[in-house]
Amino acid sequence: GTTVVWFRRDLRIHDHTALSKALQSLTKGDRIVGLFFIQPNLNESFTARHDYYYETLMKHVDHCEENGFPIHFVTGSLEDAFSQLKNQLTDLDQLYFNADETGGGAERDQKVIDFFDSTSVAVYPCLDHTIHAAEEVKKQDGDLYKVFSSYYKQWRQLNKPSIQHVDLAKLKEYATDQRGKFSSGAEAYKNLMERKTGKWKYAGEQEGLKRLEDFTHSKMYDYHNKRDFPAISGTSLLSPYLRTGAVSTRTVYHTIVDELGEQNNSEGPDTYIQELAWRDFYNMIYFQYPESKDMELIEKYRGMDWNVDEELLQAWKEGVTGYPLIDAAMKQLNQIGWMHNRLRMAVASFLTKDLLIDWREGERYFEEQLIDYEPASNIGGWQWASSTGTDAAPYFRIFNPTRQSERFDAEGNFIRKYLPQLKDVPKKYIHTPWKMPSEMQEEVGCRIGEDYPNPIVDHDTMRKRALELYKEKG
Ligand code: FAD
Repeated sequence: GTTVVWFRRDLRIHDHTALSKALQSLTKGDRIVGLFFIQPNLNESFTARHDYYYETLMKHVDHCEENGFPIHFVTGSLEDAFSQLKNQLTDLDQLYFNADETGGGAERDQKVIDFFDSTSVAVYPCLDHTIHAAEEVKKQDGDLYKVFSSYYKQWRQLNKPSIQHVDLAKLKEYATDQRGKFSSGAEAYKNLMERKTGKWKYAGEQEGLKRLEDFTHSKMYDYHNKRDFPAISGTSLLSPYLRTGAVSTRTVYHTIVDELGEQNNSEGPDTYIQELAWRDFYNMIYFQYPESKDMELIEKYRGMDWNVDEELLQAWKEGVTGYPLIDAAMKQLNQIGWMHNRLRMAVASFLTKDLLIDWREGERYFEEQLIDYEPASNIGGWQWASSTGTDAAPYFRIFNPTRQSERFDAEGNFIRKYLPQLKDVPKKYIHTPWKMPSEMQEEVGCRIGEDYPNPIVDHDTMRKRALELYKEKG
């Protein structure tokens, strides 16, 4: 019969659980088809994140084709799309996919499982997106963890899943081309490809694997020293590839461990592996708390009296708050769809503790802009920063945006890169340009209030208000 492998956020052919298992199940006379479901009405919400994702999709589709494995497209409502699949592939007998454990993806998966429930088609949801799935890391009493440190102890001890090899020769041999039967899907794909900008040249599996190699050959040994400084490229920049599944997290893990081998120089790699565990941790938290996109995990902080101020929110989004590090960070997000982790923490703290604006506004804005938008990690990051998550920054430890700037961009190189109007401001004032004497403002061609804004809020005042706001609740 025919086996379908449905691709979603796993746009690659290396180390792919569903594809690997599907191929293993095939015997002489069987056929394999690659599938992608295109949601209708996508044009209405086509953000940077979509643009990046569909660039990755194109690379994947082309890569599969080069390997003699054409991808088939279906579109319409989920039910219509899968009815069409079933009607057109009359001997369809197996459907494999890498399941989502959380969010809308998990709901969609369940619908598809239900759809095939009373048919002769066997459905095989596989676990693939994380190193350890949500329910694999448990306390002795069987409960799931809520705090990272104890979760991580257990996570580290568990045997790690091995690479799920894909037999490319077998794939080519068993692949079949039935695309002629799916013309509406083909049309929808063509429209998508016309809609995307094509500016994300570095998307896709091949580029992602190259990036992983670069990281493991050099940067990873210094990761622990450099990861906090946005002006230097000390992190792996793999998040968009992990998000789209262009690179497998298992592959990342094993590449790091193999590269390290018997060497003792493990502080960088160990720190890095811990970050991969954070990704698993937040996946597990979102699995445990599906309501956490909209609701504070700590009950007493629900229904807080947030500042509803469109002007302040807009200033934050555009990066015109008058705090250089915050502004440069937001410009980075708006320009390249990615932001350094240290800065994500800083701008999230600024929105919630300096502007007292609801963290959900920030979570939603990141959702629009981030090419690596991962609901579980983003919600986790925002609930951490707003002190409302299970394992969060305590509310009284409030980031000072100027101190953050002095510590993590001491020379101001990152700031100058994204705020060219500050490029000639001397180091002494780069973190506090509003303190520049007016003659100097003239000299360096940056008049505060004109070329660069005055601070929109006073940190000390807002800090006190934030403390009161939280204290009132707790
Ligand atoms: P590296 O430092 O090279 O880390 C390697 C990988 O580990 C990352 O690609 C990522 O998959 C994982 N990782 C690292 N830090 C974290 C973390 N704190 N939480 C979860 N996973 C982590 N990450 C996303 O992938 N998507 C998001 O939508 C997202 N939103 C965030 C929102 C906020 C408010 C905060 C504070 C953090 C958020 N993060 C998110 C986590 C982190 O900022 C990014 O994963 C990281 O900056 C990606 O760059 P990198 O690949 O170079 O990271």
